[in-house]
Amino acid sequence: MSEITVFTARRVRTMERSMPVAEAFAVRDGKVLEVGSLDTMKPWLSRHSHVIDDTFADHVIMPGFIDPHLHPSMAALLLPMEFTTAVDWDLPWEDASAGGAVDNREQFLDRLAELERGLPEDEPLFAYGHHPIWHGELDREALNTISTTRPVIAWHRGYHSLIVNDACLDWMGIDREAAARHPQIDIDRGSFFENGLAVANRHFASYTMATERFRSGLDRMRQVIHAGGQTTIGDAAFGMYDFEGEWTHLQAVMERPDTPFRMMLMPVAAALRAGVDSASDMIELIKSFPERNSHRLRFLDHVKMFSDGGFFAELMMLKEPGYLDGHEGEWMTVPETFEEIARELWNAGMHVHVHCTGDLGVELSLSTLELLQWERPRFDHRFTFEHFGISSAQQVERIARAGGLVSAQVYYVYELSRAFANNTLGYERASQMSRLGSVERASIPFAVHSDFTMAPAKPLNNAWIAANRINLEGEIMCPDERVSLDAAMRAITSNAAYVLGLEEEIGSLRWGKQADFAILEDDPYDVGAEGLRDIGIWGTVFEGEKFAN
Ligand SMILES: [Zn+2]
Repeated sequence: MSEITVFTARRVRTMERSMPVAEAFAVRDGKVLEVGSLDTMKPWLSRHSHVIDDTFADHVIMPGFIDPHLHPSMAALLLPMEFTTAVDWDLPWEDASAGGAVDNREQFLDRLAELERGLPEDEPLFAYGHHPIWHGELDREALNTISTTRPVIAWHRGYHSLIVNDACLDWMGIDREAAARHPQIDIDRGSFFENGLAVANRHFASYTMATERFRSGLDRMRQVIHAGGQTTIGDAAFGMYDFEGEWTHLQAVMERPDTPFRMMLMPVAAALRAGVDSASDMIELIKSFPERNSHRLRFLDHVKMFSDGGFFAELMMLKEPGYLDGHEGEWMTVPETFEEIARELWNAGMHVHVHCTGDLGVELSLSTLELLQWERPRFDHRFTFEHFGISSAQQVERIARAGGLVSAQVYYVYELSRAFANNTLGYERASQMSRLGSVERASIPFAVHSDFTMAPAKPLNNAWIAANRINLEGEIMCPDERVSLDAAMRAITSNAAYVLGLEEEIGSLRWGKQADFAILEDDPYDVGAEGLRDIGIWGTVFEGEKFAN
């Protein structure tokens, strides 16, 4: 039998309601053996050899944080790029990438020019973070002023579109006439969006997805996850570019002894369905994925669907009165197909997670859930509303009755609430985005996620936003939708585990659970809601092994 290690701490916050606070716990074979104090653990310690580890005597130990929804492959693509975002990003390799906030058009073009001058001759300039609300509309001509010889790519902050210059069109080898006929490419503006973006991605792939570059992006992703105190994450669109390619890269970069977290992989149902002849083939395929599972990489029976368009991209589907400027949102999956695929997954007993951003997108997901519950009732189905940008309080009550869960992108409130109030939605709806106070009042278990790189992968920061709803401008947006401190902490621990269906294994500290810990400099319950985002993180323990930041 392996030796027992007893960790002592200034305090242990277990997130178990039966014993919320403890002083120490014992770990054996990477699992928690018992939680309590040195005194209460005597029956174990008097019988078995053990060592006492007081490394964390001055620290507060919590269950390792969990982000159930981010995008490692998208991050691997974007993290090697230059950041030109309106809001400053604090990344572990800050000096190399994020260069401070770029929050107006002049600064944006100046930054591009500066980055252009700093690059070696043959390198294209990939810049991530353009947003029209801050930087104004861009086009091919504007980027031609940055360079006529170097490919320049300005990628939208919300990922779903990009603008390129003429040198880039040449570099990509784009047939301009064919591209002009594509409904989601505007060749005059040099703009590629939605399915047009997929075309651009294919032309870039030999550069952006080249093994060395992509793996260096994944490695940066690894650093980000660890720095945030996370020990389990969910990839909420596994295989978004190339299923087998991503699998090979993930195995190479993530399945290593020095990776202090595990990943739950959610494949994208519509992409799988498009690749096979029948819905039953899709179900068989999904059921076969867990055969690949390794120590840190796991498929479950959780599957991803998409309802409406991107939130940052201002393409969510809205009920009346719609957008301030009258533009239309986009369905990512048309309603008929959405219902058909959801039914197949539901009837096969799968756990469905739906990306939905606008109140009409929520409505499609919710009415589908209600229909499926009526056709074939299920208990504990954990149908999860992901992102949950705009919704009504009445929809929240229906989600509760249908047994749904919420995994919210609460960072929207921080970066977008004021911008969307002024430019996109008006104040009432913008101030109530990501309405988690109603969700808490309806007793719906909820998680918060980063959707990285849509938000920083910092669970304590997301918990801070959920509990305070303070935006970039320092305003409190809809105080009645703030959540309690305890709910905010559960949203990054026990309830995040529940959303992933892993509550027996992670998310709190008790006997038998994984010995995964976030090691904090302060106790969130002492610091209070206002101080959550400033709590220092020493590092993590993953399956009993220490990983300092
Ligand atoms: Zn996402």
